[in-house]
Amino acid sequence: MSSDALANANHYFQKASSILELGDDVTIQLRTPHREVKTECTIRMDDGSIGTFVGFRVQHDNSRGPFKGGLRYHFEVDEQEVTALAQLMTWKTAVVGVPFGGAKGGITCDTSKLSEGELQRLTRRFVDGIYEVIGEKTDIPAPDMYTNAQVMAWFFDQYTKYRGYAPGVVTGKPVAIGGSLGRAAATGRGCLFACENLLEALGDSLEGKRVVVQGFGNVGSWAARLFAERGATIVGIADISGGYVNPAGIDAEAAIAYVGAHRTLEGFTGGDHVDGDTLLATDCDILVPAALGGVLTKDVAESVRATIIVEGANGPTTPEADEVFERRGVHVIPDIYANAGGVTVSYFEWTQNLQNFYWEEERVNDELRRVMKNAFKELWSTSRSRELSLRMAAYVVGVGRVYEATKLRGV
Ligand code: GLU
Repeated sequence: MSSDALANANHYFQKASSILELGDDVTIQLRTPHREVKTECTIRMDDGSIGTFVGFRVQHDNSRGPFKGGLRYHFEVDEQEVTALAQLMTWKTAVVGVPFGGAKGGITCDTSKLSEGELQRLTRRFVDGIYEVIGEKTDIPAPDMYTNAQVMAWFFDQYTKYRGYAPGVVTGKPVAIGGSLGRAAATGRGCLFACENLLEALGDSLEGKRVVVQGFGNVGSWAARLFAERGATIVGIADISGGYVNPAGIDAEAAIAYVGAHRTLEGFTGGDHVDGDTLLATDCDILVPAALGGVLTKDVAESVRATIIVEGANGPTTPEADEVFERRGVHVIPDIYANAGGVTVSYFEWTQNLQNFYWEEERVNDELRRVMKNAFKELWSTSRSRELSLRMAAYVVGVGRVYEATKLRGV
């Protein structure tokens, strides 16, 4: 994603703003982030040296509710990327109708080179740098790439040292300390519901569909497992070690167990090893990009054989690739809807924290299904009535809702 990320996010926003005829002044108001924090995170490394990292928190918009969005620990994290992702969160929460605004944060670092102790110290130091601008009713972080429930637990613990017990300050926590059942699977499950909703609208179903999942972290691995459970055949998976293809079907559970034991898919024998571009061009019906942004470029888009793309990642498709997909009649289920299952269950976790009343997993999954279904109905009818792609329909719905809230609250 990196440097083009902001340009891409602004591209779609700008188009939506023109369709909604918002005018230049309002467009600038909605696009401009509310607050950007950049903080030095210096820690003692295990070898005794001093390690200095930079952390960011960008709060884009809070007209519909407190700022909300994940924390990403990755070497490509920079101000532009975080700003773009914060904006995407604003439209995403609006598309699924959860009462939050949009934010994103991150630390520029390579987690594969950090020990658990270093990761914990880095997280605590980051909280020290941003605790004044976050809170249960202000801004609620969550996991994103290379952060997980353990990182959220440290985050929560450090925050309580400043402000006392406040589990709703962060979501995606371990269940033992106020996390929600179903949160770990939520983004992958949301991808499944999004895809099933589209298939239903097309008069089709998931049964027997061949699926390729690119990325095998939290989102990709859960998506592979859940799509397989619903009768699809997983014909390709991939992670940092490359792609693995098997037309007869990859055993998602075996792949997940393999990663549990070996950290990556390196050496996995459940499919033929291929490079990343070959994987994306694998013959299949559904492609789920669930890794970094910007992987589906114009050239790659020409070679994709899937007819449905479910954007598990944020920003996996470049605007040029999007045009190729539109021309070729490929259905792209856009990130700001397809991967909104994570923030939706974050919302359920937050409400459970505020009420101190916890739900059964079945209730979480049922409510998620309902939210994804209602959001889809709106996207589908907007896409039909205005003759827009699903992505532009999502932007029009999301931006329209944020505009309405902004107007009602006044300048
Ligand atoms: N990081 C996830 C996203 O991009 C989840 C955000 C959240 O739960 O607040 O949507």
